Amino acid sequence: MSALRPSPIAPTVDFERDGVQHGFLRLPYSRDDSAWGSVMIPVCVVRSGKGSTALLTGGNHGDEYEGPLALYDLARTLDPKNVSGTVIIVPAMNYPAFRAGTRTSPIDKGNMNRSFPGRPDGTVTEKIADYFQRELLPRADIVFDFHSGGKTLDFVPFCAAHTLPDKAQEKKAFAAVEAFSAPFSMRMTEIDAVGMYDTAAEEMGKVFVTTELGGGGTSRAETVRIARRGILNVLRHAGIVEGAVEKGRTQWLDMPSGDCFAFAEEDGMIETMVDLGEPVEEGQVVARIHPVGRTGQAPQEIRARMSGLLAARHFPGLVKAGDCVSVLGVAVR
Ligand SMILES: [Zn+2]
Repeated sequence: MSALRPSPIAPTVDFERDGVQHGFLRLPYSRDDSAWGSVMIPVCVVRSGKGSTALLTGGNHGDEYEGPLALYDLARTLDPKNVSGTVIIVPAMNYPAFRAGTRTSPIDKGNMNRSFPGRPDGTVTEKIADYFQRELLPRADIVFDFHSGGKTLDFVPFCAAHTLPDKAQEKKAFAAVEAFSAPFSMRMTEIDAVGMYDTAAEEMGKVFVTTELGGGGTSRAETVRIARRGILNVLRHAGIVEGAVEKGRTQWLDMPSGDCFAFAEEDGMIETMVDLGEPVEEGQVVARIHPVGRTGQAPQEIRARMSGLLAARHFPGLVKAGDCVSVLGVAVR
């Protein structure tokens, strides 16, 4: 790592200074419309003395809105008088993607959550990942990364952490998930964890917590309320913001194996047969994919490979072969 060149990103804030600072992570990006231009990624630092550091991000994917809504709000309202330690807020981590309203960056098609550990001499997305990997993650004790389903998925609102080989680290992460108090709390399994910000943070031994709070390329009043209350709860739980955690009821869910995922094997028009949060029995048809090229053809039936409840579903009305159609969670406790 030490052989890597320094990051080209220059912060306009001082992470060691007390008080509130609103500034930028400035990333030089020379292009047709701005020869010596930069990508200006908004960052806020709220610091008061010694204590733990929380690193909070939204917009890792640019079409997910609960995180940015909660974090721009937190940056505007968090008073250092109520803080012990440091809160670093980057509400729109993949800022070019966020401005375009797309999951990946319009500059390089980079998916931030598949770009870690990044490269200081790579694409714009890789340079942002590298800055988080080498400059921001090492500062943090607790790392919170907001996600939602974006334009192509919709989720029941849950806060989540991963099962980890280090059980002490896992326990701290699940305790923070419990403090967030979303309607659902997930012990999460990834389809492919390589290159994820989650994995980078966890491999550094950080307490890493994430969410899936809705989707469809927008947000809802309820999910934004959950995000705003939840992030304050996590900061209180960590002892960084004063005040008691506002506990709410949460239902823990597990994703015990790859059988919780279902994928389309044909293109077509999707008909969901179960709504989010509803129970599903093994073998039950959760969705049908209707061929649309001609009449008279039977739909493909997507059957649940295990019992549980519908935690996520494909969002737009048309699907392609390979799209994730549904995700099941199993209620625990
Ligand atoms: Zn996401």
